[in-house]
Amino acid sequence: MALSTTLQDFQLKIPAEVAVNQGESFAYVQPTNQEIEQLAAQFGAPLMVLDCEAVRHQYHALKNALPGVTLHFALKPLPLAAVVRTLLAEGASFDLATSGEIDLVASQGVPSERTIHTHPIKRDSDIRDALAYGCTVFVVDNINELEKFIAYKDQAEILVRLSFRNKDAFADLSKKFGCSPEMAIEIITYAQQLGIRIKGLSFHVGSQTASPTKYVDAINACAKVITQVTELGLPALSTLDIGGGFPVPYSNDVLPIDIFCAPINVALAQLPETMQVLAEPGRFIVASCVTSVASIMGQAVREGKTWYYLDDGIYGSFSGLMFDEAAYPIDSAKQDGERFDSVLVGPTCDSIDVVRESIMLPKLNNGDLIISRMMGAYTLATATDFNFFKRAEVVVLNEHVLSQELTG
Ligand SMILES: *Cc1c(COP(=O)(O)O)cnc(C)c1O
Repeated sequence: MALSTTLQDFQLKIPAEVAVNQGESFAYVQPTNQEIEQLAAQFGAPLMVLDCEAVRHQYHALKNALPGVTLHFALKPLPLAAVVRTLLAEGASFDLATSGEIDLVASQGVPSERTIHTHPIKRDSDIRDALAYGCTVFVVDNINELEKFIAYKDQAEILVRLSFRNKDAFADLSKKFGCSPEMAIEIITYAQQLGIRIKGLSFHVGSQTASPTKYVDAINACAKVITQVTELGLPALSTLDIGGGFPVPYSNDVLPIDIFCAPINVALAQLPETMQVLAEPGRFIVASCVTSVASIMGQAVREGKTWYYLDDGIYGSFSGLMFDEAAYPIDSAKQDGERFDSVLVGPTCDSIDVVRESIMLPKLNNGDLIISRMMGAYTLATATDFNFFKRAEVVVLNEHVLSQELTG
């Protein structure tokens, strides 16, 4: 797919400060400003620095918080080969939505049994691409989509996606996808007549969901459907997929993940014991694993404030600001000196290309660096080359720490 072919992955080793122990007490240490500055000096700006150690850390943090739940990483927020390889080595499974994502995991040797295809609306060619790879679990949320599987009923298994509206989430994914519990029963009944196998239910409470109550309510509603299905004499459902949406601390008003997941585990414990539970985390796995670095191309004083023009902006790595409202922690590499209310803008000739309207920064020179943290999810993935400003290149850190440990 476009992203993995246009962006180069550099392999680097920064041994300092990176813990290699994978135990529970393992604490992840972000690359320091100094390390980021060294990388910018070596590779130029703008850069997206991907730290695979952070990917491992987040994967295990969520795994520990949701014991017994199979984690399928949703590629959408950061579809990079290095992320796939890192998670594959940790034993993760994957959530795919497009043939481009299938190509990416296939190219990295992901066994197809570890994947599910969760786009609720597919072309026949999308279904065929997935089946050709060996991915056999699909999602539907309507009768029209179900009928597409008549031709593939011997190979495919279906999850029926329910919707639970969530106005508080960054992206209320139940607005566009999912059906009511009543419709789910109708789909499952019709599937039985068609001879299509229904594996279970899924939902997505919405991205960056602040409250675990949304999951608890959705799990309880699914539990009712699961009971109803057996009462109707339909084949019992074996799987519940609780989707993505797990939040990360862009600001500090987000619960630690183990506390966030505690009520979810209580709700899951009410399900039949044999129920297989999956989740599709995207943002939670990758948000904190990328630090971006941009440099100042020029500056101007407008109405008493200094405007700094960066070589990366809204059309590039900060594209998430357009729809995601993520309050990335942004600061200058330079820390000393008095700070002034300043404006950070992107490089394009478009006036909406504003990264931050008001930010306290020291007096900076052209060429000085701006470092942004928590830039892994829905950033690079949605970046463009608008105005011929090239997307930031990706530098990959610490990819092989674990494999070295295993082989050594
Ligand atoms: C986007 C998406 C995800 C990932 O959601 P996050 O909020 O990033 O965790 C998971 N599943 C589906 C079907 C999605 O569309």
